[in-house]
Amino acid sequence: MTAKKPIDKSDEEWRRELDPLQHHVLRDHGTERPFSSPLNNEKRPGIFRCAGCGEPLFDSKTKYESGSGWPSFYAPLPDATDTVVDRSHFMVRTEVTCAKCGGHLGHVFPDGPQPTGERYCMNGAALKFEEKK
Ligand SMILES: [Zn+2]
Repeated sequence: MTAKKPIDKSDEEWRRELDPLQHHVLRDHGTERPFSSPLNNEKRPGIFRCAGCGEPLFDSKTKYESGSGWPSFYAPLPDATDTVVDRSHFMVRTEVTCAKCGGHLGHVFPDGPQPTGERYCMNGAALKFEEKK
């Protein structure tokens, strides 16, 4: 049983609102090519929001350079994300989704920096950056 998300749209509605890469990542559990997102190099202070529903997910303070080719954070904003065990591709990984719309964001791995030791490996296509002035 999974709780019903506050935002529950049909696939047709999502396809109208998202571009093909955003839809592939958020709604089809896709992964963008490494080093392809302009958000990899985003270092300004601000908030990373869900590209699907606009919910604030990560503060730029928790972003760090992991070298993986995907935007990486050591912690999400409180209650912003959910995690699900993902057994696809013959691996056991922990999938990270947006708590509000259920969109797939990426995975979390236990090899991040302190203070959490976690690496939230996110698809830039699933995020929208808003600079804090
Ligand atoms: Zn969302």
